[in-house]
Amino acid sequence: MDNCLFCKIIAGEIPSTKVYEDEDVFAFRDINPQAPVHILVVPKAHIPCADALDETNSRAVAKCFEAIAKIAKAEGLQDGYRVINNCGADGGQTVMHLHFHLLGGVKLGEKMI
Ligand code: AMP
Ligand code: ZN
Repeated sequence: MDNCLFCKIIAGEIPSTKVYEDEDVFAFRDINPQAPVHILVVPKAHIPCADALDETNSRAVAKCFEAIAKIAKAEGLQDGYRVINNCGADGGQTVMHLHFHLLGGVKLGEKMI
C-alpha cells in the first residue's frame, strides 16, 4: 500500500530496528517502547486491521503468532509476555496495518482483562 508506514518499514524505505523477518512476517522494535521489550510483529501483507480478517487472509495471523513464539525465546521472555492488538479508533489503533504488540521483560500490570 502506497501510504502505509508499516509497508514502508517492511520495504526498507523507512528505517527500523528489525528483530525478525521471514517470508510472511516482519518484526521491529517500537519507537516508543512501553516495556523493556516492545516489539511490533507485522504481517508483510497489507491487512488494515483485525476487523479486515477473513478466511482468505487469516493465515497471516497464525504466521505472526509463530514468529512471536520464536522472538519471545530469542528475547529471553521465558517468564511470559503480553500480546496486544488494537483495532480501529475505539481500540486505539494509530497505524492502519495489522500488527501485534509483543510486550515483556518486566512483570506487566494494569491488566485490561
Ligand atoms: P497502534 O497504536 O496499536 O496502532 O500502534 C502503533 C505503534 O507504532 C505505536 O506503539 C508507535 O509507537 C509505533 N510506531 C509508530 N511509528 C513507528 C516507527 N517509525 N518505528 C517503530 N514504531 C513506530
Ligand atoms: Zn501496510
